[in-house]
Amino acid sequence: MQTLPQGAPRVVLLDIEGTTLPVSFVHDVLFPYARTHLALFLVQHGGDATVQAALAQTAELAPGVPPLEQLERWMDEDAKVAPLKTLQGLCWEKGYARGELVAALYPDVLPCLRALHAAGVALAVYSSGSEAAQRLVYGYTAQGDVKALFSGFYDLRMGGKKDAASYSAIVAQAGWHAADVLFLSDIEAELDAAAQAGLRVCQIARPEDGTVAGTRHPVTTSLPEAARLFGLPGEG
Ligand SMILES: [Mg+2]
Repeated sequence: MQTLPQGAPRVVLLDIEGTTLPVSFVHDVLFPYARTHLALFLVQHGGDATVQAALAQTAELAPGVPPLEQLERWMDEDAKVAPLKTLQGLCWEKGYARGELVAALYPDVLPCLRALHAAGVALAVYSSGSEAAQRLVYGYTAQGDVKALFSGFYDLRMGGKKDAASYSAIVAQAGWHAADVLFLSDIEAELDAAAQAGLRVCQIARPEDGTVAGTRHPVTTSLPEAARLFGLPGEG
């Protein structure tokens, strides 16, 4: 294990969409996959307890509407409703397991994560996708299952990504020191919140995502560049 320079971050906390994975993957691949496959999924798995609970919850939220019709309406509206999120997650799980879905990480991501991990830097995820969805992304990349690189998966149960308190809660739960943590995201408002909680931050402005570079924090276009900026190894 290499020795990290004094003062370098000990932890790198990463956003997913727009940071390690194109934003388009969620909107152009995952959401349409669930929209296309949900009806058949419900036919095949309607007897599962989790599915039944999600359908009952749907019926409760939209009395008198057939659950599938309501779920499709929510998908068309891009509504964030708990039973829909559950069913979409289950649908994606089948898709990944069948090889119909593969998380195409940006090519610079895995070499950088491996180099950081090998250097003893702890890696963790903080994304608005559920913990289950995060595990699917890193469980089914084009390079295979790389979940073992991460020591933590944090989602909106920790709070919103634009609230400083969420970052403080993650740091406290993980037992880190805020100043030892580098948070990487494409969204400047998330970086504002993390910085307010005492974390170090860097914006990843991917040209492929059309990310607008902010002015309040350091900006790079890739993970290795960000790592090097903070004295960390960028690749193996
Ligand atoms: Mg993002």
